[in-house]
Amino acid sequence: MTASRVLVLNSGSSSVKYQLLDMSDGSRLASGLVERIGEETSRIAHAPAGGAAEREQTGPVADHGAALKAVAAELAADGLGLDSPELAAVGHRVVHGGTRFTAPTVIDDEVLKEVRSLVPLAPLHNPANITGIEVARALRPDVPQVAVFDTAFHATMPEYAARYAIDAQVADELSIRRYGFHGTSHAYVSRATAALLGRAPEEVNVIVLHLGNGASASAVRGGVCVDTSMGLTPLEGLVMGTRSGDLDPAVVFHLARVGGLSVDEIDTLLNKRSGLLGLCGDNDMREVLRRAGEGDPAADTAFRAYVHRLKKYIGAYVAVLGRVDAVAFTAGVGENAAPVREAAVSGLEELGLVVDAGLNSVRSREPRLISPDHARVAVAVVPTDEELEIAAQTYELVTR
Ligand code: AMP
Repeated sequence: MTASRVLVLNSGSSSVKYQLLDMSDGSRLASGLVERIGEETSRIAHAPAGGAAEREQTGPVADHGAALKAVAAELAADGLGLDSPELAAVGHRVVHGGTRFTAPTVIDDEVLKEVRSLVPLAPLHNPANITGIEVARALRPDVPQVAVFDTAFHATMPEYAARYAIDAQVADELSIRRYGFHGTSHAYVSRATAALLGRAPEEVNVIVLHLGNGASASAVRGGVCVDTSMGLTPLEGLVMGTRSGDLDPAVVFHLARVGGLSVDEIDTLLNKRSGLLGLCGDNDMREVLRRAGEGDPAADTAFRAYVHRLKKYIGAYVAVLGRVDAVAFTAGVGENAAPVREAAVSGLEELGLVVDAGLNSVRSREPRLISPDHARVAVAVVPTDEELEIAAQTYELVTR
């Protein structure tokens, strides 16, 4: 019997999301979330397999080490203890791989050191990812730990798409270039879209629109990423829940010189208080749609700004790819918000993009087409599954 379970960990600064998968058939054995780590009111929500009721506990979880012990206890209660010989590997989501990591990597001391050296590129994310790796290694030092990088899928971007048009020497010295993020999702969804069309990934060109609280677009030619909207950090590109996306870089100078804001204050303003939240006070698209529907002008402008930016990226990526076979919507907004999908594509008939209102309004967890049969470009809703993708890449690497 070969071990076939993979534990996927997505460690944030105060949370750990986890899933245990059986890679002999890709089934989900359990999943859950520990949040508000380090506070008195930490919460553990654990969902066993087979639709059994979710178990919830609140109470202090001091740190990531305690969080992983709590996860192990929950899994043990389901007969899925992490001490089991069935556990083949642990797959960790790591946000920034820089130019060094372009594929999933088995973690050893040297790799951990290099991931640590990338902290300046992802100060909010990589430290938490590293903590998750350290506690998982301490728990099962005998089991391979694999890092799956959010940047990796975008490493194939050509140099002219990855470079900012600034002094090349300065850029190189400071590792300033476009890396892109959400790569695991873009990889999974572009492949799943090809499968939905009944074709091989190598044969199709896809624009993937990952619209969650963070949002990014990618242009994928024959399974290979050739451009994406996020850059050095996840701030560039689309209008997001709380991030501005693209803006004139001189806005930053103006905020400092005229507004008197510090670099950290500008960072917080653009990452945490901008996007939909900055435009109308709500970052949840459900609220924005509800308020816009009631005629609230700020929510209406926020919705239109979101869609306008999205449409510009769709147009840009049609131009980048030349021929587009499919546009795929995914993540919280992309999978659920029919009005966003409809508005993003409306008026693009000349580009071959049309949405069927009836198909667009269907709610489902399955990948599906929302364009009419005769459409030149398939428009699809393809639910993302980053955990399954991380588990698959991890398992593939350790069983190679
Ligand atoms: P994610 O980051 O992929 O979990 O997506 C989270 C976002 O999805 C939330 O902030 C919501 O704005 C959005 N969302 C979830 N469900 C819906 C829905 N039914 N309609 C519109 N937006 C939704």
